[in-house]
Amino acid sequence: MKEAAKIWQNGSLVDWADAQVHVLSHALHYGTSVFEGIRAYRTDHGPAVFRLDDHLARLERSAAMYYMPVPYTREELRAAIHQTIAANDLGSCYIRPLVFRGYGTMGLFPLEAPVDVVLATWEWGAYLGEAGLRDGIRAKIASWRRIGNSTIPATAKAGGQYLNSILAKIETQKAGYEEAILLNEQGYVADGSGENIFVVKDGILVTPPIGASILEGITRNTIIDLAREEGLTVIERDIPRAELYFADEVFVTGTAAEVCPLNEIDEHRLGEPGPITRRLQERFFRVTEGKDPRSAEWLDFVETPARAAR
Ligand code: PMP
Repeated sequence: MKEAAKIWQNGSLVDWADAQVHVLSHALHYGTSVFEGIRAYRTDHGPAVFRLDDHLARLERSAAMYYMPVPYTREELRAAIHQTIAANDLGSCYIRPLVFRGYGTMGLFPLEAPVDVVLATWEWGAYLGEAGLRDGIRAKIASWRRIGNSTIPATAKAGGQYLNSILAKIETQKAGYEEAILLNEQGYVADGSGENIFVVKDGILVTPPIGASILEGITRNTIIDLAREEGLTVIERDIPRAELYFADEVFVTGTAAEVCPLNEIDEHRLGEPGPITRRLQERFFRVTEGKDPRSAEWLDFVETPARAAR
C-alpha cells in the first residue's frame, strides 16, 4: 500500500509507522471492530470527501449494533478526517476510520474492553483496476453464501463479518476471476465481496433489497438517486442467479470499486459495458469531482496546504 505520513489515533496524529496496537487487542482476536471506507476526490477546489456525513452516520449505527460507544462525536470525527487529509497533503484518497475493542480484557464479553478509534488516509487508485472501470471485469458466483440476517446483521459494517467476503474473494480469485458475487441463504443474489450489484434489463435497473443480506451501500444509494433523476426506473427486488446471465448490463457499486461494469459472469459473456452503466458511471464521477449540480450537496471540501497555497 502507498503509505502516507500520519495516522490519527485516539485523538492525535502519529507517524504512520508508530500507529500500533497491543497484540492482545480484543478486535484482533474476535473481529470486534466496525469501520468505514470513504473516498475524497480531487476537485478544482481541493480535495472533497464524498458523502462524509452519511458514512459517519453508518459508522455510528455499526458501532451501536455492537454496543460500542464511539468516544468522539460526528463533528469531531469529521474534523479529524479533515485534519488527517491535510496533514498527509493528499488530493484524492481513501479514508479508513476504524472503531474497535482494544486491549484490556479477553473472552467474548467485550463491553469492558476499551474502545479505540483510528483513522488513516492514503492514495488508493481504482480498487478493481482502471481497465476494469473502462472495460468491465469478470465475476463468478462464490460457493460461499452471504451470512444471513439472523446470524450477523449485514447492515452493520463490522470487521468479523468480512471473513465471509474474504472466503468468497479467495475462492474466485484463485479460479481466475476478478470479483466474487455472493448469493444469500435464500439463493438470491446478495452482493459482491465488497460491492452492491445492479442489473439492467430492457432499460430498467434492478438491485437486491436491503433485506437480501446486503450492506446498505452509500454508492448504491447514490446510483439509485442519480438514476431516478435521469428518468430511469429502479426496482429493489430479489434477483435469482440466472437473471444475471441474461441481463443487458450488470455493474457493481462501492466506495472502493466506484461504479464498475461486469463483462462476464460464470462464463456467460455480457460484453462491453452498456450505455446505462456508462451514463451512470460518468455521472457518478462528475458528481464526485465537483462538476455536477448534485456535488454541492454531497461533497465536503477539505482545506489542505496545497489548496491553501493555490
Ligand atoms: N457491500 C459490501 C459487502 C461492502 O463491503 C461494501 C463496501 N463498503 C459495499 C457493499 C458498498 O458500500 P459503499 O457503497 O457504502 O462503499
